[in-house]
Amino acid sequence: MIQQYIDIKKQHQDCLLLFRVGDFYELFFEDAKIGAKALEIALTSRDGEDGIPLAGIPFHALDTYLAKLLKKGYKVAICDQVEDPKQAKGIVKREVVKIVTPGTIIDENLLDAKDNNFMCALSCYGNKAGLAFVDNSTGEFFYTEERLNFESINRIIQKYLPSECIVSSDFPLRTQLTRLNLNISNHEVNDTTIKSFDTLLNQTTTHKAGKEAISLLISYLSETQKNSLSHINKIKFIELNKYMNLDYTSIRNLELITTIKENRKKGSLLSIIDKTDSAMGGRKLKQWLLNPLLNSEEIDHRLNMVESLLEDGLLLKSLKELIGKIYDLERLSTKVAYQTVNPKDLVALKHSLQNIPKIKETLISSNSKSLVSLANRLCALDQLVSIIEQGIVPSPPTTIKDGGVIKEGFNSELDELNYTASNGRNFLAEYEENQRNNTGIKSLKVRYNKVFGYYIEVTKTNLSLVPDYYIRKQTLTNAERYFTDELKKYEELILGASEKIVELEYKLFCEIREAVLECIEEIQNNSNVIGELDCLCSFATLAIDNNYRKPELTVGDETSITNGRHPVIEETIDRKNFISNDTVLDCSDNQVLIITGPNMAGKSTYMRQVALITLLAQVGCYVPADEAKISIVDRIFTRVGASDDLSSGQSTFMVEMNELANILKNATSKSLIILDEVGRGTSTFDGMSIAQSAIEYLLDKKKIGAKTLFATHYHQLTSLEDRYKGVKNYSIAVKEENDSITFLHLIKKGGSDRSYGIQVAKLAGVPAPVIQRSNEILKFIEEDFTAKQDSSATQDDIFQVMSQKAQELIEEVNDINLNDITPIEALTVLQKLQNKT
Ligand code: ADP
Repeated sequence: MIQQYIDIKKQHQDCLLLFRVGDFYELFFEDAKIGAKALEIALTSRDGEDGIPLAGIPFHALDTYLAKLLKKGYKVAICDQVEDPKQAKGIVKREVVKIVTPGTIIDENLLDAKDNNFMCALSCYGNKAGLAFVDNSTGEFFYTEERLNFESINRIIQKYLPSECIVSSDFPLRTQLTRLNLNISNHEVNDTTIKSFDTLLNQTTTHKAGKEAISLLISYLSETQKNSLSHINKIKFIELNKYMNLDYTSIRNLELITTIKENRKKGSLLSIIDKTDSAMGGRKLKQWLLNPLLNSEEIDHRLNMVESLLEDGLLLKSLKELIGKIYDLERLSTKVAYQTVNPKDLVALKHSLQNIPKIKETLISSNSKSLVSLANRLCALDQLVSIIEQGIVPSPPTTIKDGGVIKEGFNSELDELNYTASNGRNFLAEYEENQRNNTGIKSLKVRYNKVFGYYIEVTKTNLSLVPDYYIRKQTLTNAERYFTDELKKYEELILGASEKIVELEYKLFCEIREAVLECIEEIQNNSNVIGELDCLCSFATLAIDNNYRKPELTVGDETSITNGRHPVIEETIDRKNFISNDTVLDCSDNQVLIITGPNMAGKSTYMRQVALITLLAQVGCYVPADEAKISIVDRIFTRVGASDDLSSGQSTFMVEMNELANILKNATSKSLIILDEVGRGTSTFDGMSIAQSAIEYLLDKKKIGAKTLFATHYHQLTSLEDRYKGVKNYSIAVKEENDSITFLHLIKKGGSDRSYGIQVAKLAGVPAPVIQRSNEILKFIEEDFTAKQDSSATQDDIFQVMSQKAQELIEEVNDINLNDITPIEALTVLQKLQNKT
């Protein structure tokens, strides 16, 4: 057996091999050590034999242990006994029946209903990278192509966060990928495996890199799942330029899916806007949020449908109720394809499908053109519903092994067998009664057990009354058990019938399952439409619950928001207490808004609210504002707070500069940029200089010319308003009384000249003597600074002070004629220059 183990393990080096031995799955050798540690189970050895390390789990607890291993990122090969041990000659035959990996899970107990579980494959062709993604649990499959460089690929990977990433050994960016927190699996395309997927693959002929990635993914899936993959019917090409380009930094900084601090869903934008009622809707919403649209017609299409839903409260209410009754159609159909669907699942599928025609009718009755077009994409599948309805009892057991699943009247052979079986049981009750009367033994019983079959039981005290034709079967302490020829005859009849019933029911169940499989594409399609409708209903509900308005999208330059609010903060504090603010951004006078104000005043909140309102609008969702006219943006860039990336060994300032570099290299005039405190991680003058030149670069239409919100504590930067058309100063109002301040959270025109840092420190509880001393020091520094400024009256700000001096020095250095200067003279010149600095 160990030799057999070793042979199988050789073919599955990268997996933990769970090797079925009797009632256990065993792990041997190195696997045993890893498994024992990961599962917290005992590590033993085959005592007295060969001392091979061993760890085992009971076969019925496989799912629980499997979940633990997958969570820890292991791949597991499940090796079963594939012949009956009783009939085996020599060692029982074993085979790997399935390989379960983090990216291939289909068991809904291991998955989050409202989240996809994507797996991706990366490949290349020429200078292009191909990226293919699949959610094996839903059958969703898409791919795209990008330039073959790490940054481009990483941006897409970070959007879908695949739980497993498949690459072949010659993929050029392998080393860089291993630095990411990914489960990387190696695989080479097996040409014979993918042969049977030719039709699917031929959908993608024009994209060579993409096709390579798809082949890799299909080959991997098919070899691990050992299944025909009939749930994968469509491969969609994602045109990246149809969607807003959101990178990982912005997704994180804007807390779209999880919060920055605790990485939790609660408190994210998604958690606030998610009012969906189905799993498909939940997953779709997340995808919509990560892929805002760029085409105003497509955005309007969604917005108009939300408007129609809002116009008719009853319509919305009944749609939501119907959607709520629909189970996870996508994951149910995958279970059908994998033949793991159980009778209860099929009933759930039936109930779900029964609601489709109702949804269709409801949508058609709305008289909204776009809602009707949604209705037309739904497929009623009446025939399938009636097959399940006629075939399966209303509340079947979860397993098909014990019968009791198929409804009476569905199959005449089954009905006859059932009649025989139940008649047989009636006979037994009668037989017991007769035997009691014939023998006069009142306590006589006719019973059944699995080992001895049917028997008559007589207690020891009544043995004298037992007739001759009773044949002894078994002796117990207080009783004897018998059978008779007549009882034997019925036993055969009943047991034969029961066995046949189970067999026939299984056959019929498989036929019904096949019927479902025939409709799998329609079911998946319905699921997709329901997902979309659920998102739209969710937007409408959100608009009502949180008082959102319809935005107007334009391809023009101007974004203007009246009384905008931050969708998440307004929910975390009492909504009445949230102070709404206006925004005007365009590509002429209001291109860069410099926002000053003390810490805690609300600068970040304000800037993020502009980004979030823009993003929501482009998703097709109503927005938290009284009015919003949004100029469509191609990307939202963010550089906020101190997101120290200690794990990568980078300092805060380095991370900050990396992010700034990324923005300056990639932003366009159509981008929206949020910069919170750029240049803070270094000395004041360095920081200020970087901040100012970044602003100039962003302002410059020949370089970038993007709409920018820039929060800063460098009040000197407010002087840029006078110097550049396009810069506007704003500050967040605070009320100052005596020595303390109250935050008004209200944005107003004009810069502020103070940071109120000491007041904020006081609010935070810094001890009074320290506050008092800080005030003294501040006063001293300010007086000193003013004095210095007065002494250079011609210079209007610190930057000019620096640059003029530098200019003079440069000129003087250039004037030196190096050919006719002696070393001594050179020293004198140097001395002179040094005195001037
Ligand atoms: P800053 O970036 O200026 O330091 P934040 O934007 O982080 O300040 O805001 C600090 C806190 O102030 C927020 O957590 C929120 O509780 C409150 N706040 C911000 N803006 C508003 C607002 N418009 N209305 C009410 N409270 C606000």
